[in-house]
Amino acid sequence: MTRVRFAPSPTGPLHIGGVRTALYNYLFARKTGGVFILRIEDTDQKRYVEGAEKYILESLDWLGLTPDEGPLHGGEYGPYRQSERQQLYKQYAEELILKGKAYYAFDTPEELEKMRTEQEQQGFHSAKYDSRTRSFMRNSLTMSEDEIQRNLRNSENTVVRLKMPDDQDIAFEDLVRGRVSFNSGELDDKVILKADGMPTYHLANIVDDHLMEITHVIRGEEWLSSTAHHVFMYQSLGWEQPTFAHLPLILKPTGKGKLSKRDGAKFGFPVFPLDWSEGDDFFAGFREAGYDPEALVNFLVLLGWHPGDDREILSINEMSEAFDLKSIVKSGARFDIDKAQWFNQQYIMSYPDKKILDRARSFLPSHIVEKYDDDYLLKVISMMKPRVQTYPDFYKACAYLYSAPDSYDEKQVRKKYDSSVGEHLKNLLALVNDQKSLESAFIQEIVKNYLTQNELKIGIYFALIRIMLCGSMTGPELFDIVELLGKKELNNRWVKALDEFEIIARSS
Ligand code: GLU
Repeated sequence: MTRVRFAPSPTGPLHIGGVRTALYNYLFARKTGGVFILRIEDTDQKRYVEGAEKYILESLDWLGLTPDEGPLHGGEYGPYRQSERQQLYKQYAEELILKGKAYYAFDTPEELEKMRTEQEQQGFHSAKYDSRTRSFMRNSLTMSEDEIQRNLRNSENTVVRLKMPDDQDIAFEDLVRGRVSFNSGELDDKVILKADGMPTYHLANIVDDHLMEITHVIRGEEWLSSTAHHVFMYQSLGWEQPTFAHLPLILKPTGKGKLSKRDGAKFGFPVFPLDWSEGDDFFAGFREAGYDPEALVNFLVLLGWHPGDDREILSINEMSEAFDLKSIVKSGARFDIDKAQWFNQQYIMSYPDKKILDRARSFLPSHIVEKYDDDYLLKVISMMKPRVQTYPDFYKACAYLYSAPDSYDEKQVRKKYDSSVGEHLKNLLALVNDQKSLESAFIQEIVKNYLTQNELKIGIYFALIRIMLCGSMTGPELFDIVELLGKKELNNRWVKALDEFEIIARSS
């Protein structure tokens, strides 16, 4: 049975890269008939951010990536918050010490700082606590037994560090990257247990992956180098290590560098699933921007993976059927908001109008929802759905379907309108008013016949009618708009526009 986990730290909102990690874990679990676990890695109290866990849960929920086991979902391997598992970790740090794979270190922050500066002065760049420098630091490898005991009793700085070998190949098979190896001499002696007795990410992560019987670790590429430390711990503790798959980075729209949380504001699109405020900072979310969760999932799944054929639109079930860790690409995937919008548009277009209305309603201004009944709103939806990208567009891209335009495309009016045209437009309104039905195709026929009989240019009149009703030349089918507005509103707009057109024409 495969068991995978998504293990975010509640240090802020969940970045879109994290969402993709969760998605790939979810799909892999579904594909293999396994279990998808949510584990909250909250051992770093200094970086803990209030509300972040709730945000993570709400994001997964919105996207439909429901964990099988997790803090809110239960399971036999809990608790699923590391802060509630604190007492579990220390014994493994001690076991590593006993096995000679870790040691106590007592250095003060000042001593550590001094070591780094001195090393750099001696020409060692980015000096670290490692197999070379540990020999002149204050730790259980350099001290007498007495001194060690005294420090263990009195020091406030006691930590446990891994004792990385000085020249050893630490290698593992990564399902995405193939064989990955590190020379242990280049790796630092990472702290695994802090002075406050809390584990660091590295220890807590491997202990929990082991105790929770995780079979596959699917996570972002930024953890690749830590994996060498993890493998060292698995081997030292005599534990079977999980299979690793490190996902490629999500790159900025320019293709250069990792997509960062500030890029959203910079490029003007969301890079988080939900809105998030932090002090004076605000980060926009896809949900509030009017994206469809299924469309977002579809967009994200293809950032680094492909189904092996040319399908682009895939339901979550189709994704899980086709999902395969081996088809994940090694190179970074460029974040392209146009593509996200395209997916959103495709999904919206494929939905029944009623479902669209359910999802769009909260994005419409309240005065619109109060004024118009569902019948009217459903007509707007059916006319606009091939033309919108996000849910707010059902208002933003077509405000003229709710209220008369407050300005007109003057350039076009000047080009196309004069008083004789105005006379025909008046006749046309009278003709339309004479009809019992405003049914779109019917009225279009009536108007067309009038124009043909009078040898008038259809293009010019259709354009002007559109400007009268909508203000500009873009929008859905003209006579659908006529039908939607109804006689009263049509007359109001038509009459008002003719007056305005006269003024515009005279002012040119
Ligand atoms: N807590 C780590 C994070 O925030 C998890 C990394 C992992 O999946 O091992 O990304």
